[in-house]
Amino acid sequence: MPVDATQPYDPNNIFAKILRDEIPSKRVYEDEFALAFHDINPVAPQHILVIPKGPYVSWDDFSARGSDAEIAGFVRAVGIVAREAGMVAPGYRLLANTGTDSGQEVPHLHVHIFAGRRMGPMLTR
Ligand code: 5GP
Repeated sequence: MPVDATQPYDPNNIFAKILRDEIPSKRVYEDEFALAFHDINPVAPQHILVIPKGPYVSWDDFSARGSDAEIAGFVRAVGIVAREAGMVAPGYRLLANTGTDSGQEVPHLHVHIFAGRRMGPMLTR
């Protein structure tokens, strides 16, 4: 069920539980600002999710309320994860669904990193 990106943050969403290590995940990177782990249902040979550690529902929420340090730290973390996974030369795609029309399912900001194959057109028509 897609989520409304204007709702208040729900501290019991599934990624908040992953952050608190209440449910398992295959972590690939962690620093002060971000956590990265493998998507449970990958749609590319490499499919990693990067989330900020702070309580932000979506890209909209994060870009409005996140501190400069959190935003810089998170953006750098996404770059580090892709670089360390060897994705830069073959290439990778980033995606951050925001709100109902996008199909966002989990109400904690996450950036998808897809790699490992040609991604094809940006969206299906
Ligand atoms: P969205 O549609 O919100 O952009 O993407 C949510 C993503 O989270 C989906 O790709 C889905 O497979 C992934 N996901 C949902 N629940 C879990 C979970 O419990 N663990 C992990 N690792 N990924 C999850």
